[in-house]
Amino acid sequence: MEPKLVLDRHQFDTFFESLHKHGYEIIGPTLLDGAVVYAPVDSPDELPVGWTDEQQGGVYRLKRRGDQALFGYSAAAHSWKKFLFLPTLKLFEAYRTSGGPEIRHPQPDVRRRAFLGVRACEIASMEIQDRILIHGTFQDTAYVQARNAALIVAVQCLQSGGTCFCRSMNTGPEVTRGYDLLLTEITGPQKHVFIVDVGTDRGAGILEGIALAKADEADLKHAGDLVDEAAAHMGRVLDQNGIKELLYRNYEHPRWEEVAKRCLTCTNCTIVCPTCFCTTIEDVTDLPGGKAERWRRWDSCFTLDHSYLHGGCVRCSGLSRYRQWMTHKLATWIDQFGTSGCVGCGRCITWCPVGIDITEETAAIRSSGDASSSIFGKKGE
Ligand code: SF4
Ligand code: SF4
Repeated sequence: MEPKLVLDRHQFDTFFESLHKHGYEIIGPTLLDGAVVYAPVDSPDELPVGWTDEQQGGVYRLKRRGDQALFGYSAAAHSWKKFLFLPTLKLFEAYRTSGGPEIRHPQPDVRRRAFLGVRACEIASMEIQDRILIHGTFQDTAYVQARNAALIVAVQCLQSGGTCFCRSMNTGPEVTRGYDLLLTEITGPQKHVFIVDVGTDRGAGILEGIALAKADEADLKHAGDLVDEAAAHMGRVLDQNGIKELLYRNYEHPRWEEVAKRCLTCTNCTIVCPTCFCTTIEDVTDLPGGKAERWRRWDSCFTLDHSYLHGGCVRCSGLSRYRQWMTHKLATWIDQFGTSGCVGCGRCITWCPVGIDITEETAAIRSSGDASSSIFGKKGE
């Protein structure tokens, strides 16, 4: 096992320089529009230094920390999905020529990107998307290219957010796999350091030329305690016990009507979710009709068009669309892909404008007992 190392806060500029020298564009947390988001960052000064967040159902606020931590926030507003499974992707251009239609495919995006600040639940969400977009029936070429080009610099989550429930989903908060480098940030009056775990040769290459000390026992214990503390302060819980069967038995539960009265079918929950991968296709043409483009863009099961089949929409009500989303995430996903579709990041709760909470909805169905009927027949049949 590689020894754990110590990167001093003052060496973070050198760390950035090394990433640049190895040809990586750094994508990391930064402040934009009153939230922590993921975007290109050129220097450590652009990180959310000394900021944290408060998150609850429908609530997100930035707050000052009492220290200068670089990664002292919980789940960012964006997920890494926007760099791996792009919100819009041009599939091809078609030109009218005298010899007939000519199809041109765009050049692949081969940029190397270092994802800085990836959390455990986010690694789990990438693994879920890998199953579908790399190891599924069809490979998504653009996703494969972006995923292979991404260097994962993970960061231990030391502050669970008010809407986090990764512990319930067995996806965090401790990062245990799936990284090239892993940082645990320790801040204090006397020091500000990062304990570094090296996960791959690619990660080790980034550290070459940076003089790093070996972590001592006290640092390792301190880092372990901080991770344990985050695990002990999860904002929410989702009981996964028998959840697939529970939801399959309760397609007609009255709770769906209650949640549908509040749901605006705005699509926010699907857009912020790091595992949702539904798309639609749009064709656009220029005015003279000489050129057409086909684009893929994110779609959502909350739109009417998403379930439009040969002359009609099959999920016309908000009730059927919310039920589709939640039962897919927590139940049918397991049958399709062998895992839950939820990693417990809490984004769908925070960014729902009316604060609808997937943990609360699940608990309400569980605690009120099973409804009398389901798509499989009456209860007990
Ligand atoms: S369903 Fe909600 S909590 Fe689960 S992964 Fe998606 S956004 Fe995160
Ligand atoms: S559950 Fe919330 S975020 Fe999702 S569609 Fe309904 S109102 Fe929008």
